Amino acid sequence: MYLRRMTTPNRDVAVFTTIADLHSYLADARRSGATVGCVPTMGYLHDGHASLIREAAAHHKVVVVSIFVNPTQFGPSEDFERYPRDFDRDLAIVGNAGGTAIFFPSVEEMYPSGARSTIHIDGVTEMLEGAQRPTHFDGVATVVSRLFEAMLPDEAYFGQKDYQQTLVVKRLVATSPLEAVNRATITVLPTQREVDGLARSSRNVYLSQEDRADAPVIFRALSRARMAYADGERSATVLEQLMLDELSTVQRLQVEYATAVDAVTLLPSSVFADDQHIVLLVAARLGSTRLIDNLVIDPTA
Ligand code: AMP
Repeated sequence: MYLRRMTTPNRDVAVFTTIADLHSYLADARRSGATVGCVPTMGYLHDGHASLIREAAAHHKVVVVSIFVNPTQFGPSEDFERYPRDFDRDLAIVGNAGGTAIFFPSVEEMYPSGARSTIHIDGVTEMLEGAQRPTHFDGVATVVSRLFEAMLPDEAYFGQKDYQQTLVVKRLVATSPLEAVNRATITVLPTQREVDGLARSSRNVYLSQEDRADAPVIFRALSRARMAYADGERSATVLEQLMLDELSTVQRLQVEYATAVDAVTLLPSSVFADDQHIVLLVAARLGSTRLIDNLVIDPTA
């Protein structure tokens, strides 16, 4: 069973709550020659999500957006219960961006016997977000594998905003024995920002007026290090100190990490090679909100 709902301005979006119904829709679509793009999300969609949906719609006749606030990627003291939700608004955003279907499963549909089996990816999960949120990437890898089994994508779209997550997903796809997972192409798209540089995020709704005014310091810190890199700076310590100096201009910001590391391995180097692909990453708390952001520097681009 699924509901079919009209969205603005004039596009039908099919809404599926079960894997079986989604599979029969996908089988029909494939029989008519369609390829399938998918965009996994936790809902409360914004322009960052819409950019992924639009890109998927430019390349695939069928675009499935999943909306699932995945409990297994939240730690016990994190914001699972209060994570923002607004299905009707999401439906309109999906339709306007060119999505053809929403997969909106219950927790029971995704974890029928509880969340007892998990997938662990090693190598890129121990540091940064993995160090701050020890069970987070097991939850991410597990849900992405299950979502791919449900959505059977030819191509799946992720945002660079969650940089470490993109490495985890690529490694999941490269190592999974499941055809539904290992056949998917992973496409990573740039971070969409507010005009003052703040990365768009569903969690920005938690920011108080004061938090919101202070939050762009994160992008300023990343930009300052990127500028120093462009001027020839290759010392990780110097790049990190520049970010910390900028971040310290907002005293109430609590920095979890501000680091410059290899973009492929996430491992530190003291001095970067001129052809090394690097990533600058920041995680910080403002009031009760945790924000992350990053900039990738690809000297070969
Ligand atoms: P979420 O709903 O936060 O789990 O995000 C779903 C997908 O949207 C992930 O691949 C995110 O990286 C991506 N995403 C979130 N924020 C942005 C943004 N500001 N720009 C581009 N992609 C984003």
